[in-house]
Amino acid sequence: MFRLFRKDRMWKRHALRDRYDVVIIGGGVHGLSTAYYLGKLGVKSVAVLDKGYLGGGASARTTAIIRANYLTPEGIPFFRESLKLYEGLAQELDFNLLFTQMGRLDLGHTDSAVFGLRLRAEFNQMLGVDSRMIGPAEVKELVPAIDLREGKPLPITGALYHPPGGVIRHDAVVWGYARGADRLGVELHPFTEVTGITRENGRISGVETSGGPIKAGTVVSATAGWSSIIASMVGLELPIVTHPLQAFVTEPLKPFLDKTISSANLHAYVYQTDRGEVVIGGGVDPYPTYSQRSTLHALEELAVNAVEMFPCLRNAKVLRQWAGLCDMTPDYAPIMGRVEGLEGFVLTCGWGSWGFKAAPVAGRCIAELIATGATPDLIRPFALSRFRDGLLVNERAAAPAAAVH
Ligand SMILES: Cc1cc2nc3c(=O)[nH]c(=O)nc-3n(C[C@H](O)[C@H](O)[C@H](O)COP(=O)(O)OP(=O)(O)OC[C@H]3O[C@@H](n4cnc5c(N)ncnc54)[C@H](O)[C@@H]3O)c2cc1C
Repeated sequence: MFRLFRKDRMWKRHALRDRYDVVIIGGGVHGLSTAYYLGKLGVKSVAVLDKGYLGGGASARTTAIIRANYLTPEGIPFFRESLKLYEGLAQELDFNLLFTQMGRLDLGHTDSAVFGLRLRAEFNQMLGVDSRMIGPAEVKELVPAIDLREGKPLPITGALYHPPGGVIRHDAVVWGYARGADRLGVELHPFTEVTGITRENGRISGVETSGGPIKAGTVVSATAGWSSIIASMVGLELPIVTHPLQAFVTEPLKPFLDKTISSANLHAYVYQTDRGEVVIGGGVDPYPTYSQRSTLHALEELAVNAVEMFPCLRNAKVLRQWAGLCDMTPDYAPIMGRVEGLEGFVLTCGWGSWGFKAAPVAGRCIAELIATGATPDLIRPFALSRFRDGLLVNERAAAPAAAVH
């Protein structure tokens, strides 16, 4: 039995070699998707190194909401393409990812919130994303359990409805990409920490690791909440601050909710899983830290705001709560691409509290960049140099329960 299990491993074990063409630091969803698409493009000598187990960072803690209805002309096409890739991903990876496109509602409670949602509806429709404004009656029809009683301090006056939005099984995505990358010849090395990055003749030449030094033509940092630490290894200061983000689930309840619901005014989002558990999350904690401990304060605040939307949750018991790290940028948009003056170093970070949904398109684009040397148009606006050039991509209004996923 044991032998059979070993033979059927999802991915192979390898001895660490002393040279690869590409070393990817970080075996979360972004590192693994980049590795998979590199394999597809025929780049064979690729290693993914992670200091822990694969997918054990933010990718293990995500609430895995997938949607495309962002705000900017840069963000909408990018996330639209990612949603499209997610729609075909289970088939591509031959792995059930349990992607449920249940639909997503962003609630508007104030004039300014509704104005912002209207803008998003218009921009999304112009750019081919199915997202439209609906009134309270349709909200009630779609979500019968929602509290629309009059006299509440934050009444629901409208909502942005995005039918193709949904939720995916996060660990399946990670495992699917890992297995796919392995089958394409990529080496996966969990429990291998990068402790330094080496340079020779002005270009990146490799990494120092807990398993010894490795030479590499290209080093990719896909380390999300740890990106600033990795960047400091090459003397680079990123415009990133790491904040924790918390979420919790209730005990399983009888099915009552088949949409993901988010409220930027209440800083909370809610959905019910196939198992009946209700997932509740919100915006990042207001202080920067690398601690991944959850707090009673966040639990209380999220619970109060969720009950404000769904009074039926008031007696639900909390099953578990957790926190993960988010690499927040000033414009709530990611950073992808090469870094001027650091030849051989590639970044994919700034994924904040919204990055899981971007992994397919980001991984594919970063792989194309490495394989061809040309930056794909979809990621060009997200270069690090935009902070120097004053070309910020302001996704704040659409990104997170100001800051919701
Ligand atoms: C509670 C929570 C809810 C979220 N909900 C959503 C959501 O609903 N929708 C959405 O789109 N996004 C969501 N996100 C954000 C999303 O999870 C992240 O943006 C995404 O998972 C980042 O993936 P990644 O691969 O870049 O990083 P990670 O998954 O964090 O992977 C980075 C990896 O780098 C490794 N690493 C770090 N330092 C080193 C080193 N020195 N050497 C080797 N390895 C190293 C870490 O061990 C880690 O495994 C949420 C995040 C959290 C915390």
